[in-house]
Amino acid sequence: MEAAFGRTAPNIPRVEKGAPLPHRVVALGDGAQVLVTNDAGEFMALDRADFATFAAGRLTPDSPAYDDLVARHLLLAGRPEVALRLLATKVRTKKAFVQQGPALHILVPTLRCHQSCLYCQVSRRPIGADSFDMSPETALHAVERILESDAAALTVEFQGGEPLLGFDIIKLVVETIRRRAPDRRVTFSITSTLHHLTDDIAAFLAEHSFQVSASIDGPEDIHNANRPLPGADAHRRTMEGVALARRVIGAANVAAITTVTRRGLHHPEGIVDALIGAGFPSVFLRPLSPYGFALRSARRTGYDMDAFQAFYRRALDRILWWNRQGVEAEEAYAAILLTHILTPFHSGYVDLRSPAGAGLGVLAYDYDGGVYASDEGRMLAAAGDPAFRMGTVRDPLPVLMASDAMRLIATGGVAEDLPGCRDCAFLPYCGSDPVHHYATQGHVRADRQPSDFCRRHTGLFHLLFGLLLDGPLEKQALLTRWGTQRLRPEAAA
Ligand code: SF4
Repeated sequence: MEAAFGRTAPNIPRVEKGAPLPHRVVALGDGAQVLVTNDAGEFMALDRADFATFAAGRLTPDSPAYDDLVARHLLLAGRPEVALRLLATKVRTKKAFVQQGPALHILVPTLRCHQSCLYCQVSRRPIGADSFDMSPETALHAVERILESDAAALTVEFQGGEPLLGFDIIKLVVETIRRRAPDRRVTFSITSTLHHLTDDIAAFLAEHSFQVSASIDGPEDIHNANRPLPGADAHRRTMEGVALARRVIGAANVAAITTVTRRGLHHPEGIVDALIGAGFPSVFLRPLSPYGFALRSARRTGYDMDAFQAFYRRALDRILWWNRQGVEAEEAYAAILLTHILTPFHSGYVDLRSPAGAGLGVLAYDYDGGVYASDEGRMLAAAGDPAFRMGTVRDPLPVLMASDAMRLIATGGVAEDLPGCRDCAFLPYCGSDPVHHYATQGHVRADRQPSDFCRRHTGLFHLLFGLLLDGPLEKQALLTRWGTQRLRPEAAA
């Protein structure tokens, strides 16, 4: 676009009467308003009459909406080369993630875990099992792949199993990266039950400024039922770990990640109150994932997306209620979506990218040296389908990028090219997530609109736009704050 309208482009006549620029639309609420968005994510809500005039190219400069539409690059007026160059810059800013290699690197030091959560996604192995730990040699090869990426800022995230059961590998990876690349910007993070956190481990995590996500499902009864342990004390042990982590690593660096099971579905206020009451400024409310073991247990623990939407609506409202009592807190996923809606920037979140983040933005290194295009691809492989296995830690990054897995992702990774998404007004804020659609519908190019991913996100976008455009002013201000001022450094996955 810039080449066509750059300095050397021929003079293009001024557009005296506003002409609509490429846009997508969706009716909001009861249909009285139409949301108009462009590829850069700029948006405007118009009433039906204004929208009809706008779409027909008959909006005149005396219309109250005219100047706003021009400013947001939804309407072209004046010198096209200036407007189009600005629009190209905004699209480039929103999609800046395509200009660099994978920034998020997920390592699985071990598949072993002492818990057997009802919804476990990762084919965990018993704590005493042999042969499910990453070897030091594999870890060092993974470090080579991580440092091959040209991303300006890297995030290395440790998951499991229970990653703290493989702390020696965590230590080896962190210290090797620090020694090999002292000048690179690297954030380390870990998702853990924290049951195995000790003073020494906490001191190490603090020394390397770890971001900690504690897996905690809400109040004690729900958490312990979701995460059975012989002593029925999973919640108590996690909260002890949280207390230690806060003391040593800092409260701002400890967030909660909550998997919503069928048991928790009817208790949104109880779950939010338990998490905020426990002092978490950022909570992440996740629906069950359709991967690996979780798929097999879905009949016992699963629910449909309408039920999750109803849960989420009440939970969000409860967090905003806490905000109004003066408590700083956010729901992390809403904050990510609001960043996409309200700012010129992308959050970095890999599941909400087009082109897809799988492989291009994230790599997952399994304990056995397998490299996957995403953690979900790893889970699919654990359940028997290696479609997203790119190769092994011994393969250089260019070889991994040329794998069949990446070719598969390329055929379904661009939302602008997908049925359902290509005409969706929410596309600039959403993502293509080909791995999810392969897992749930059997094909990376599957029609998005019937998918649970799409139903979840359509519901979230309607909810958030409804509040931003028509909600009470106080809620509008709070959500704007969530989207523009994160309570913790950006999580990329
Ligand atoms: S997944 Fe659904 S909400 Fe997201 S861009 Fe595609 S059609 Fe729109």
